[in-house]
This record gives sequence, structure tokens and C-alpha cells, in this order.
Amino acid sequence: MRAATPQALTQASLEPEPLLHWAMDHWGDALAFTTGLGPGGIVLLHMARKRSSRVRCVFLDTGFHFAETLQYAQDVAEFLDVEITAQDPEPFGPTWREDRLACCDHRKVAPLAKALSGKRAWVNARRADQGGMRAGLAHIQRDQDGFVKVNPLARKDRSWVNAYMSAHQIPTNPLLEQGYGSVGCAPCTRKLKAGEDERAGRIFAGGKTECGIHTRLRVKQD
Ligand code: SF4
Repeated sequence: MRAATPQALTQASLEPEPLLHWAMDHWGDALAFTTGLGPGGIVLLHMARKRSSRVRCVFLDTGFHFAETLQYAQDVAEFLDVEITAQDPEPFGPTWREDRLACCDHRKVAPLAKALSGKRAWVNARRADQGGMRAGLAHIQRDQDGFVKVNPLARKDRSWVNAYMSAHQIPTNPLLEQGYGSVGCAPCTRKLKAGEDERAGRIFAGGKTECGIHTRLRVKQD
């Protein structure tokens, strides 16, 4: 995936909020919001809500989320006054017990491709400081099909995100206060050990650091 910074954007406007608002103006309804309900994604929804009274966002309900996460989805949607819609996978299909790769493909990658179908661009909360495949992350990326990922938090870190959440008194998933650094599906998330990075508690197939929505996704555009 290539970095592709629009020439119209100056360095100053690559700050999260101006970049996000530029993307909303530029793509309109062809810009998709999704959320894993992590603090970064919630910050972006809060910023989006300042620009528009009609913010719609998709949450991938894999069927394996913590009860706390599902309750948080409702609570934070109400707090932000945004619409968070669950995108369910097709019934049945593989589970993490047999094959984590196939489970993520069935419950995350395929439903996300469906949710993004017909869209031109997608807002992401990934940050370069999360390391792994995210190291060096650009603010704007374009794939071989022309689909664009907008990454307003690319150059921010977790403490910046936490400070934004605190400054605006935005609630967080209560599991983050119980020792989890990043919350995904319950069978594939563990609490952090001392000194571990925030995403170290996420468990993916083959010891990978990503579930596949940023590596195996192909988006069908009109
Ligand atoms: S994170 Fe685990 S439970 Fe969730 S979709 Fe992937 S393999 Fe399945």
C-alpha cells in the first residue's frame, strides 16, 4: 500500500482533526468510519461529530466480544451521539478454536469488506508508534485498487490519545482499567504483563500482529 499525501494538505493540516475534517469534506458519504471501540477510534468519532451531526460507524460484531465491550459500544454511542451499527458475519463459519486465521477472515475481514463496499476511503485509528506492520505508517495510503485509508493518528502516541479522552471526559472500555492494553475478541485478548506494549495482549493466527483487516482486505468499489 503506497503513501499518498494530497498536495492540497499542508504539514500543519496533517494534525488529526484538520485531516479528518478534510477527509469528511472531500469524500462525503463515500468515507467510511469503522471502530474497534479502542480509544483512538473513539477520539476520531468525537472529532467527526464536531464536523457533522450525522456520523455513522460500523462495529464488527464477531460474536466473541467481551460483554463489557458490547455494553461500551452502546454507552459511548450515546455519549458521542453517533450511530454505531453492528456488522455481523455470515452465520456459522470457523471459530478461533479450530483456526484463528479462518475465524478472523470470516468474522472480521469478510464483514468489513461488505461494510466498505462502494466506499472510496476509510478512516483508521492506527498509529506508527504501535510498531509491527504499523511502523512508519503514512497519514494517507492508497492501495492498488485506488481505495484510500486515512490515518489521522499516524504520528500521535497513546498518551496523546489518552490526554484527548481525558480532556473531553470521554468514557473508555472498562477493561482498559483492568489490565488490558488493547481489547479485541475475548478468546484472543489477554491482560498485559509488566512492560509490554499496548497490543502485546492481542493474539492472532501464527503469532502475527494483525488480524487481517489491514493486510488481507480487498474493497469492491463501484
Ligand atoms: S480475534 Fe479471535 S475470536 Fe475474533 S475473529 Fe479473530 S480469531 Fe476469531
